[in-house]
Amino acid sequence: MPIPIPNPTRLRHVAVIGAGAGGLAAARELRREGHTVVVFERENNIGGTWVYDPRTESDPLGPDPTRNIVHGSLYASLRTNLPREVMGYRDYPFVASTRPGRDPRRYPGHKEVMEYLNDYATEFGLGELVRFETEVLEVGIVENGKWKVKYGKNGKVDDEVYDAVVVCNGHYTEPRIADIPGIDSWPGKQIHSHNYRVPDPYRNQVVIMIGSAASAVDISRDVSTVAKEVHIASRSYNNGASKLPGHNNIWLHPMIESVREEGSVTFQDGSEVRASIILHCTGYKYHFPFLKTNNIVTVDDNRVGPLYKHIFPPTLAPWLSFVGLPWKVVPFPLFEYQSKWIAGALSGKFSLPSPEEMMKDVENFYSSMETAGIPKRYTHNLASCQYEYNDWVAAECKSAPSEEWRKEMYVSASKSKIVRPETYRDEWDDEHLIMQAHEDFNKNFK
Ligand code: FAD
Repeated sequence: MPIPIPNPTRLRHVAVIGAGAGGLAAARELRREGHTVVVFERENNIGGTWVYDPRTESDPLGPDPTRNIVHGSLYASLRTNLPREVMGYRDYPFVASTRPGRDPRRYPGHKEVMEYLNDYATEFGLGELVRFETEVLEVGIVENGKWKVKYGKNGKVDDEVYDAVVVCNGHYTEPRIADIPGIDSWPGKQIHSHNYRVPDPYRNQVVIMIGSAASAVDISRDVSTVAKEVHIASRSYNNGASKLPGHNNIWLHPMIESVREEGSVTFQDGSEVRASIILHCTGYKYHFPFLKTNNIVTVDDNRVGPLYKHIFPPTLAPWLSFVGLPWKVVPFPLFEYQSKWIAGALSGKFSLPSPEEMMKDVENFYSSMETAGIPKRYTHNLASCQYEYNDWVAAECKSAPSEEWRKEMYVSASKSKIVRPETYRDEWDDEHLIMQAHEDFNKNFK
């Protein structure tokens, strides 16, 4: 049974959880549609991931649920892994600023992204919608189909009732770690990349890094500037151990087979290294500790579901929605499309299929994954179809699809990363696409 519509008016009172890039896009689109919006933000700043926080957590590996939570995972040296033209919101291009102190590089440092998000929030007056240092503790359905949001601020707990809730709490805070035989008696230190900030603590150490995604690549180079040796263990590397070209202290290995109490680490090809630190660059888990939906929405092997198009739980739509679950995507423009759809679905401008039809779509999606042998934990990986997804959502909300230059630039940037992994942020060969992007920006954003 669908949840009854709580309010016959078309303008809703909406709670947004989180003021990162996703929550800001949601706030902008919801308000543009005429809804009233309150954004709950645990920290004292907008920006979420992009707020650099030098603190690390009390449990450097992450499994202790009582640890102090630090939201951010940025390391000091981080530069974006996307060109700014592609990365920025479609509605507010991420062009180089000439203001003093700004970073005009095409792949800027993290501080520049934070500046850009501040500019975005200022441009659209979003700061006034945010309640800072206000942590959402519980979100649950109340009897008339509305939502009770329980929150804590300055040690006081209170609650309010909303027509709808948009969850934008990010998914790079709850570490996932690899299972390694023998790890409980291995004597070295273990850290998750969530708690990596600067290379200094790794000076003269022999470091094992697990993983090969974007942050593993960056962190291995960062650590190698001071460490004695860096050994990268990765599922995607199946040959015997070999030195990484261009580096005299980084080695590539297949995954770890086991570790032993005298400090050795054995890889699946039989090679062995004695190390003092294992750095897990093994990704994150979706985590919604505040969400109480009577098990309508669950997280199972990193699948958040059931969700229609990664956004709406069929039987709770459009009153509960999620922005930003997909990964291996360009996040900001995707947040915009998802948010436009949510805002219009709430006002009644766009209609969603019936709950039964949405559920059928989700089931078909899950069984197509199963048939293709794709593990559940890849449910929200849109690497192969992000632009198809964006354009589909764009059509649902009567918006223009992604620009052709943006799609082409994404492909050329991805290729460039493979061809020149060490220098792709400073060398490229898609000037013609940069020109097209700027023509577009100049035409649409005078
Ligand atoms: P977040 O930015 O995580 O924001 C979530 C917000 O919710 C936070 O402010 C948090 O405090 C708040 N919150 C959480 N729980 C609660 C609660 N219970 N109550 C109240 N508030 C709460 N993307 C790119 O486009 N380019 C890049 O180069 C890039 N590099 C990255 C590098 C790293 C190391 C990481 C981790 C991510 C990177 N990303 C990159 C992805 C990045 O996460 C997204 O760009 C984007 O910032 C995600 O926004 P979000 O709003 O979904 O989540």
